[in-house]
Amino acid sequence: MRAFARPKVVVSKCMEFAACRYNGDKITEAIVAKLADYVEFIPVCPEVEIGLGTPREIIRLVSEGETNQLIQPKTKKNLTHVMTEFADDFIDGLTYIDGFLLKSRSPSCGVTDAKIYAKSDNSPVLRKGSGTFTTRILAAYPAKPLEDEGRLRNFIIREHYFTHLFMVTDFRIVKQSLKIKELVNFHAENKYLFMACNQVKMREMGRVIANQAALPMEEVFSTYEEGLNELFATPVKLTDHINVCLHVFGYFSNYLTTAEKLHFDHLLGQYRKKKIPLSSVLCVLRSWCYRFENEYLLKQTYFEPYPEELIAISDSGKGRALS
Ligand code: SF4
Repeated sequence: MRAFARPKVVVSKCMEFAACRYNGDKITEAIVAKLADYVEFIPVCPEVEIGLGTPREIIRLVSEGETNQLIQPKTKKNLTHVMTEFADDFIDGLTYIDGFLLKSRSPSCGVTDAKIYAKSDNSPVLRKGSGTFTTRILAAYPAKPLEDEGRLRNFIIREHYFTHLFMVTDFRIVKQSLKIKELVNFHAENKYLFMACNQVKMREMGRVIANQAALPMEEVFSTYEEGLNELFATPVKLTDHINVCLHVFGYFSNYLTTAEKLHFDHLLGQYRKKKIPLSSVLCVLRSWCYRFENEYLLKQTYFEPYPEELIAISDSGKGRALS
């Protein structure tokens, strides 16, 4: 089993931490509860922080040209400026951060699905987008793992988020060392994970480490980090995971029985149909790494990109699947 550093994650406080919802509720959220054993959470409730109190009158996003305004219809207050200022101060106060886990549908914390209305009172929803607090977070940290709890109920999105989160945390520690040897090890141990993300980019990053131009270490690490951000900008495609699994399978195929090969083929088929998570396929491949004592493959983060206890989170089926 791998040892994992604890990612530092900003979380919407109403999920598990405090009864700070507009109606005085606290939300029970299994993903947050489970993650609490493995990450360092920084809980924040932006609406309480700007002085709205709990319980409070509802607020909503109202479209105004290209921008959205954060309005409290009952009091007619426009809270956009105060919320934006709070968000910017909050961001300035973060020494470092590895990711964000925010509350879906909120006009402050929503990531993609906060309702944006035509007017502050009794008007239709024009579109959906990010809340005012999250909009500032996205501008400041465009490449960090950032999701809402609703999307994380889908296991494909969840696997990508967890993988990204624990990978950037490992990289943060390697970057702090500024040692090329650490970076070489990091790149080697992530080879199959990066191959699944983007083989071309992975090779480019290998050339960055080779550092033919003898650039200063700070520049090498920064350029490498840019590559890393690009690798994880979009979730890994199912077909790319399947390619990597088949590649790893190739190490063992000559030593397996026909029944074992058929079983693996069946598992990949189930994964292709999104009926099982990738972790189910990796479990089998990993057991073969142990059986055939393949030390090289056993070091690959691809087989345990995040703590395996997190795999056990049940899937509600309500999350939105990726195409
Ligand atoms: S969604 Fe955000 S602003 Fe709303 S109660 Fe939760 S933490 Fe506070």
